[in-house]
Amino acid sequence: MLRRIAIGIALVAAAGASVQTQPSAQSTGPQSVVAVRAGRLVDPETGTAAANQIILVEGERIREIGPNVAIPAGAPVIDLSKLTVLPGLVDAHTHMAITYKEVPENNVYYFTYVLDSTPLRAIQAASNALQLLSSGFTVIRDVGNNGMYADTALRAAIEQGWLPGPTVIPSGLIIGGTGGQFTPTPEMYKNHSIVYPEYFDANSPDEIVRAVRENLLFGAKTIKICVDCKPWGYSVDDIKLFIAEAAKGGAKVDGHVQTRDGGQRAIDAGIHVISHGQQLTPEQHTQMAQKGMYLASTDTPFTKYRGSVEGQKRAVDQLRSAWQKGVNVTFSTDMDYWNERMKKDSGEWMNRGDLTINFLLTWKAAGISAKDTLKAITINGFKAADVYGERGPIKAGHYADFIAVAGNPLEDIDTLRNVLFVMKNGAVFKKDGAIVLDKLLRPGPVNGWRRR
Ligand SMILES: [Zn+2]
Repeated sequence: MLRRIAIGIALVAAAGASVQTQPSAQSTGPQSVVAVRAGRLVDPETGTAAANQIILVEGERIREIGPNVAIPAGAPVIDLSKLTVLPGLVDAHTHMAITYKEVPENNVYYFTYVLDSTPLRAIQAASNALQLLSSGFTVIRDVGNNGMYADTALRAAIEQGWLPGPTVIPSGLIIGGTGGQFTPTPEMYKNHSIVYPEYFDANSPDEIVRAVRENLLFGAKTIKICVDCKPWGYSVDDIKLFIAEAAKGGAKVDGHVQTRDGGQRAIDAGIHVISHGQQLTPEQHTQMAQKGMYLASTDTPFTKYRGSVEGQKRAVDQLRSAWQKGVNVTFSTDMDYWNERMKKDSGEWMNRGDLTINFLLTWKAAGISAKDTLKAITINGFKAADVYGERGPIKAGHYADFIAVAGNPLEDIDTLRNVLFVMKNGAVFKKDGAIVLDKLLRPGPVNGWRRR
C-alpha cells in the first residue's frame, strides 16, 4: 500500500514537471500570438470571400484580421495560403452519449439505456467529440438522451481542457409529461422508474419549474422538452413557463415536435428551436420565419446504412419548404445509432464526423444552394446554439475556432467533406489532414476547474 502511494506521488511530481517544461499549444500567456495566413477567407453570413488574409490569434481568441496585419516578430506562422478558411461547422441536433445498434437492441433505444451505463456512454461521447471536431464541427447542440448528464459532463471536460472537442451545448435530461418518449409497462414505470433519467417527468407548473432548475443546476445550457410526445403534451402556457424559467439561467428552449398541433403550440409560445417538425405546413413555416425561430429538422438522407427513399423525400420536401419560406434552417442530424454498413467503398469505417457531414445529401437533394447550406451549417447554427456573440463568425474578439478546406465551399458544398485544418479555442487540433493530439491531452483541468 505504502509503495503504491510512493509511486503515485512520483507520478504526480513527474506530470507536474512535464507541464512546466513543455507548455501546450493552448497554454496562453498574453504574449502567445500565432499568425494564420488564409489563401481565401469565407464569410458565410454574406456569402462572400476575401483573398490573402492574415488572422492573428492570441491565446484562445482572435485579435485581428486583415490583408496587411503586422505579424509580431517571432510569432509562429501557420500557412493556409493554398486553402480556404471558414468558421467551424454546427450540428444543431445530435446526441453524443447514446449509440443504439441493430444487435442486440434492434435499434430500440429503450434497451440501449438498460444495456449501456452512463459512464460507458460518457466515454463514447468523448470519442464522438474527437471525431466530430476532426470533421470540422466546432459547436454541437446535444439535446438529451444522454443518461445521467453525460452531456453536461462532456461539456465540462472539454471546457476544462481534459480533452479537445467541440463546444457542447447540452440540454441535460429531456423534460416531458409522464412517459417522455417511452411507453413503459406499469411495473417498469412505477416500481423501477424506467423513464428516468432518459426523460424527466413534469406534469404541472410546479414540476416544470423544478425540472428546468435541476437541469440548469447540473449544467444544461439549453432546455429540451417533449412538446407532443404524448397526447397530453404541453400547452402554450406550459411552454411559455419553460421559456421564462430557462431564461433565468440564460438558456433557451428547444421543443421536440412531431404533430401539426404541437408545432402550432410551440410557434405560438415563441420557442427558440423546433426539432424535427416533419408535420409542419408551409403556412407554419411562414409563421416560424416571421418570428425568427430556428428549425432543426434532422434531415436523414437515404443511404445504405439508414433511411428510405420515401423518408428522404419527406425530409427533402419539408426542408425545401422551410428554406423557401425563409425559416432559419439549421444543419441537424439526430445521429445516435450505429450499424455494420457504415463503411466507405474502400471498406474503411465511416467515423462519426463522416456520418454527420453526409447529411449534406438531403440539402443537395432539396436544391438548396451551397451558399445557403453553408450559412445554415455555420451562422444559423451559432445562433440556434446561442453562441453567436462570442464564437462562430471569424471576428476579432471571438474565440479562435476555424477550419480550412481545399476548394470553395460557397460554390461546392462537398468541399466540407474533407476538412484539412481545425483550430479550436486557439489550439491546432488538425493540420495537413491529420489530428494533432500530443499537445492537447492534459493531466488535469488546465483551463480551470470552475469552467463548465
Ligand atoms: Zn433527437
